[in-house]
Amino acid sequence: MSSHIFGAPPSEPIDPESHGSVLALLPEYVTQLVLGQRIHPDWQPLRQHLRQCRACRAEYNSLYQQMQATYNGTLPAVTFTPTLPPFLREQRARRPQAAHRHRTTIIHRRIRSNFRPRS
Ligand SMILES: [Zn+2]
Repeated sequence: MSSHIFGAPPSEPIDPESHGSVLALLPEYVTQLVLGQRIHPDWQPLRQHLRQCRACRAEYNSLYQQMQATYNGTLPAVTFTPTLPPFLREQRARRPQAAHRHRTTIIHRRIRSNFRPRS
């Protein structure tokens, strides 16, 4: 893949003592790895944490496998329309009541009237 591309540095500072900090940044890090990008040196604290923490490493491994399967197409695409569970089928079949429809229209009008396109 594109190993000449330098991946981005972490979007926020990594606290190597915090599992939460590492786990929050894991998707960013794993995406760059799966895309074959060169890892920015600022990711070093996260890599260091992964070497020492078994729990975060397990998350890393799981995420890595799933992302890789997604990117290389191993994960099968959904080629059928899933059948809705009965409670959702009933909801969809029921027509919205007139009062509800009226309220929805008013809300939509308000949203539209507040909308100002950026110039
Ligand atoms: Zn950890």
